[in-house]
Amino acid sequence: MSGRQTRITGGCQCGAVRYALHEQPTGPHICHCRMCQKAFGSFFAPLVGVPLTAFELTRGELAIFKSSDPTERGFCRNCGTPLTMHDVDSPRITVSIGSLDEPERIAPAKQFGIESRMPWFDRLVRLPGEKTTEEDTPDLAAKIAASNHQHPDHDTAVWPPAGGGR
Ligand SMILES: [Zn+2]
Ligand SMILES: [Zn+2]
Repeated sequence: MSGRQTRITGGCQCGAVRYALHEQPTGPHICHCRMCQKAFGSFFAPLVGVPLTAFELTRGELAIFKSSDPTERGFCRNCGTPLTMHDVDSPRITVSIGSLDEPERIAPAKQFGIESRMPWFDRLVRLPGEKTTEEDTPDLAAKIAASNHQHPDHDTAVWPPAGGGR
């Protein structure tokens, strides 16, 4: 199958759970519904889907919270990153776009749950902006850089990492 050539990877913040998509994912969207807001602790959930047969867990396992009887939300038990959403009767599964190693390649094409969309959502991109380090003191920025426990944006051979993060 030509689909087996595709390998798009992602995982949680700590790296205990890693996955691979073996088909180009489709239907990229953001969902503003109240359940997705809670599940992501955010204003919306960014999601993109593949057939279940094209989803492979390559490290660890998903913890599951059933937000309703038909809906399983998969996350990392270790660090809490939201990773998947699956309706039990569906042949498809969606993954959180932010957990992909290259999330910038998946642009949302639709919005769902717009009845729950934050009333100021369309103003977010016009808020005053700063780069990450402008807020940190040089001392704090150095401490964060020296003790980064976030898994890198690619598959790794060993987890937990011996050197602690990179
Ligand atoms: Zn994790
Ligand atoms: Zn939703």
